[in-house]
Amino acid sequence: MYRYAKPTSLNDALALLGNGDWKLLAGGTDFYPALGSKPLRQDVLDINGLDDLRGISTTDSHMLIGARTTWTDILRAELPSSFDGLKQAAREVGSVQIQYCGTVAGNLCNASPAADGVPPLLTLDAEVELRSMRGCRALPLSDFILGNRKTALAQDELLTGIRIPKPATNGASAFLKLGARRYLVISIAMVAARLVADEGKIRSAAVAVGSCSAVAQRLSTLEHALIGLPLGPALAEAAMAAKLDELSPIDDVRGSADYRREAARELVARTLLAACDGANGHGNASSGGKPVDVRKTAA
Ligand SMILES: Cc1cc2nc3c(=O)[nH]c(=O)nc-3n(C[C@H](O)[C@H](O)[C@H](O)COP(=O)(O)OP(=O)(O)OC[C@H]3O[C@@H](n4cnc5c(N)ncnc54)[C@H](O)[C@@H]3O)c2cc1C
Repeated sequence: MYRYAKPTSLNDALALLGNGDWKLLAGGTDFYPALGSKPLRQDVLDINGLDDLRGISTTDSHMLIGARTTWTDILRAELPSSFDGLKQAAREVGSVQIQYCGTVAGNLCNASPAADGVPPLLTLDAEVELRSMRGCRALPLSDFILGNRKTALAQDELLTGIRIPKPATNGASAFLKLGARRYLVISIAMVAARLVADEGKIRSAAVAVGSCSAVAQRLSTLEHALIGLPLGPALAEAAMAAKLDELSPIDDVRGSADYRREAARELVARTLLAACDGANGHGNASSGGKPVDVRKTAA
């Protein structure tokens, strides 16, 4: 006999988690496909009764995306332009039905190398909030996802929210994804970039690439090289010249390692150009995450 529980308070949820081997269920859009044709053979803790975990709030030090916040919630929220990349990723996750059920937190906990939410959240310096009956800890997202389908989540822990530190809410951002077709597709490569500029020159840059390593990576060498460059084509030129040593793409059915590396380079260049809009100044004039026309080539 396997148990199913749908607690309505966080304390009850954590008490259950502290006492048993539960599988957490949020939107179910990774949970159910992962079962394949096998029957469910684990106790299921459904977090959909935890109303307090849904939505986006602000504290003195950070913005908090609750664990039950869906991709549709992200798209509908009023957010600064530094979140445009996350919104553009939200539009690319599956279909509108998947975006309506699937949560941002579920995307992180599933820890797929092709999870579209990871690169934009890395560029926002995101941290995850992990709670158990033992207490609460916060981990940088880069320390939370340890490998393909591997996270630092302990058996008795629940990811309750994603924190974006206030300083990382500055600037403007963009996200681009390459798949074998335009829509409803797993990424061959995807890139997020967030730029902060002063008087037309880059003050800080955050660039992350997914699907080209077991865990999405920030490109710290390129980020440093971008500082001081003028907004515009110089950024794309720096990207085309970058070595991208942080990436370790593999050959698979979706593309060869060489193709992925070249595609990533081109996507980085285009994403930087797309993020230039609004990066000068405070970057609060959000485009609402509407897709940017990047058909102009980088080179
Ligand atoms: C048709 C289809 C298309 C898709 N397309 C894309 C795509 O284009 N891009 C993309 O990135 N993904 C895609 N996905 C995957 C999926 O929709 C996303 O990863 C989604 O964000 C998962 O969220 P969820 O709430 O459904 O997670 P669930 O399926 O409920 O859970 C996923 C995993 O996270 C764990 N978990 C969930 N919430 C928590 C929590 N709060 N604390 C701890 N553990 C937790 C669960 O136990 C499970 O292991 C697609 C899926 C489908 C079915």
